[in-house]
Amino acid sequence: MPQILVLVEHSQGKLTTVTGELLAAAARLGEPSAVLVGRPGIGDSLMAELGALGALHVYVAEADAADTLLVTPAVAALDAAAKAAGAVGGVLITASIAGRETAARLSVRLDAGLINDAVDLESTDGGIVATMQALGGAFTVRAAAKSLPIVTIRPHAITGAAPAAEAQRINVDVDLDAAPAAQITAVHAEATATDRPDLMSASVIVSGGRGLGSRENFALVEQLADVFGAAVGASRAAVDADYCDHNMQVGQTGVTVSPDLYIALGISGAIQHRAGMQSAKTIVVINKDADAPLFEVADFGVVGDLFTVVPQLIEAVRARQQ
Ligand code: FAD
Repeated sequence: MPQILVLVEHSQGKLTTVTGELLAAAARLGEPSAVLVGRPGIGDSLMAELGALGALHVYVAEADAADTLLVTPAVAALDAAAKAAGAVGGVLITASIAGRETAARLSVRLDAGLINDAVDLESTDGGIVATMQALGGAFTVRAAAKSLPIVTIRPHAITGAAPAAEAQRINVDVDLDAAPAAQITAVHAEATATDRPDLMSASVIVSGGRGLGSRENFALVEQLADVFGAAVGASRAAVDADYCDHNMQVGQTGVTVSPDLYIALGISGAIQHRAGMQSAKTIVVINKDADAPLFEVADFGVVGDLFTVVPQLIEAVRARQQ
């Protein structure tokens, strides 16, 4: 069976949940193999956990500069791992902003096919076939690559787990001092202080749009999110109007999400917003305009003023939680 390489996502020394999802997807297609890039020591600290998540091989690329050179260390490590592995059937990467850039750069290096924003994957006689959103989410299509497929996958889209394995460690050398890898360097990183789940991988998201009307009113989105233990998202109109921070933007030019539950408050449903969220498993829309396009993809909808409906919803959910 060919190896399926998975780029490991980790933050502050800990694996993020998407790594398990990518390894589960890889196990459906071939031998799941993890590619781990980080500062010296990262291999020792994460090997056992990667084995428990199903990695049969772990390609470890350690370098002092691994955390400061943006996506270039990951590209170099995936390139080196693909060469060391020999028969590679595919490469799976999270569909984040950095993940998409890594995948694009790697596809040029390896002269490989690139499939972005997959929500499902299957192994067929003709190779890997991905279900993905195309043309800003206007169509859901099944796509295959003519050469080695490099696929970015939306967090939370793939469920299940790979069987635990005894992971074998393989060290790979990456020359991070070589230009152009060393030309762009991150000098400062600041973690956002929040108790809420990460937007990209959250299982429940409450998003607010222009219908909220002001930054003060946007607190209602946060209050509803908190009763569900959800992440907070937003439309671009809400971000542009400064109701909330830009890293909350969901959509074509924001983050793409695939939660179990997506609740949209005062969002009309422009194609660019839908592109980022319509693969959510259940969509709830609250909008005072019965003709708002987002109702077309809603599983449940409430036509009404959000300032009346949402406080009642918060009260009802709290009452059930007691
Ligand atoms: P509006 O379209 O103004 O809708 C507001 C909604 O709130 C309306 O439906 C209204 O009925 C409802 N409402 C108002 N008051 C209430 C109330 N009291 N109670 C209930 N409902 C109420 N957009 C994104 O979201 N993400 C992207 O990534 C993105 N990328 C883009 C990229 C490009 C190249 C372009 C051109 C646009 C992009 N946009 C994106 C913008 C997109 O086209 C829309 O303009 C935007 O999504 C609209 O946001 P909205 O639904 O919050 O605002």
